[in-house]
Amino acid sequence: MARRKKSAKPVIVRRPSVQSIVTNICQLVTEQGWQVKLERLFNRPQFCKDHGVAGSLDNVLGFTEHPEKIVYVDYRHNFFDILIHEYLHALYPNLEEDDIEALEEYVMERLTPTQAKRILRATVPALI
Ligand SMILES: [Zn+2]
Repeated sequence: MARRKKSAKPVIVRRPSVQSIVTNICQLVTEQGWQVKLERLFNRPQFCKDHGVAGSLDNVLGFTEHPEKIVYVDYRHNFFDILIHEYLHALYPNLEEDDIEALEEYVMERLTPTQAKRILRATVPALI
């Protein structure tokens, strides 16, 4: 899940290229059936509880439900950062939160305008 910013620890594992991450993100929605649901999440913990999210729900801005293949994003905040963060959870379900945050930072620092457009164009038809 995405929360308000905190410093991310570095990831030691070798990272895939940003281009391959972008391709894999696009395939989540174009080929694997993932959908993106826009919701009002932050300060609405009751909503999250209804959807079975475990742990503390303070400052939740997005989360990913793997069995349902749905990425939830609170569109009222940093939409694109949160979207990328949750897509990374979908791509790498076994990574810990700190590693996802570091990977998000890695992608966001290097993402080109063309790659950002690819992700947004793939996302729009997947919005629910
Ligand atoms: Zn997260």
